[in-house]
Amino acid sequence: MQSFFDHFQKIYGERWPALYEALVKGEQQVARKNNLSLVDDLNTKKWSSFAEKPELPGCYWIPSGQHVQPERNADELLDIYIMDPASVMVARALDVQSGDRVLDMCAAPGGKSLVLIESLKEEGEIFCNDLSPERRERLKKVIQQYVPRHVRDRVWVTGKDGVQFGLKEPASFDRILLDAPCSGERHILENKAAQDEWSPRRTEHLASRQYSLLAAALLAVKSGGRIVYSTCSISPAENDDVIRKLLKKKKDAVRLVEASLGVGGERTEFGVVYLPDQCGFGPLYFSIIEKT
Ligand code: SAM
Repeated sequence: MQSFFDHFQKIYGERWPALYEALVKGEQQVARKNNLSLVDDLNTKKWSSFAEKPELPGCYWIPSGQHVQPERNADELLDIYIMDPASVMVARALDVQSGDRVLDMCAAPGGKSLVLIESLKEEGEIFCNDLSPERRERLKKVIQQYVPRHVRDRVWVTGKDGVQFGLKEPASFDRILLDAPCSGERHILENKAAQDEWSPRRTEHLASRQYSLLAAALLAVKSGGRIVYSTCSISPAENDDVIRKLLKKKKDAVRLVEASLGVGGERTEFGVVYLPDQCGFGPLYFSIIEKT
């Protein structure tokens, strides 16, 4: 763990002790209302009395120490999905429009997919992809629990390695979310086995996988289409540096889109980051790229 500490002390300097404390503390979560379900009487729902911020409509901020459980509405669908507010902002940054053909390249367990599915409204389709069979089962269950049958007809769950989309489905999607596999330092701090596996080299290795997935997303998106690249890492090597590499290697094919900070975001060189010492949730980084 000493090398982990030294590594992030070097990156974050005086900020690191506070960031470390915030990472080991539980994060703020929201109960995001399932807008695809019939809404039962809100007065009977415990979560509907929690604060809702104008920047994040439909998300109810769960006060610390309180627990809420999703419940079935009259149509048998679950009423809320508990998630990190930053994840909602990242999925909304993709700006999915009704009628779009969307790829969620690394989708399981599916919190962000649900936000994207809602944005499709009456038309369009979404491919929720994940390489892991176990995580894909969880994803299918989430879709069954939250998405009505008639909408599910436009939701496909696939199990490819994301890099395959580049060559096999070039210029096929209007919108791609690449919520990439990453170090996930909050998880590392909770898990002894993950701590033993951590090293700066592992971060570099992940960064190169992330770049391969991003390059594939660039091939798979249509001209004028949008990619949101995101990670739950605090490591710049897995965040801005991946985007820097793309901008350098594909400079004639991409343009950065300025992201809104939303609630609690901080601007980085190429995107926005939510760090828990500042906003109480995250970590989550994202950058928006348009194919020119
Ligand atoms: N987007 C998800 C959500 O909001 O619920 C979280 C995704 S998690 C950060 C990253 C996912 O990428 C994992 O579920 C993992 O199984 C998947 N994955 C890892 N390598 C992959 C690859 N090469 N292609 C597709 N999925 C991959």
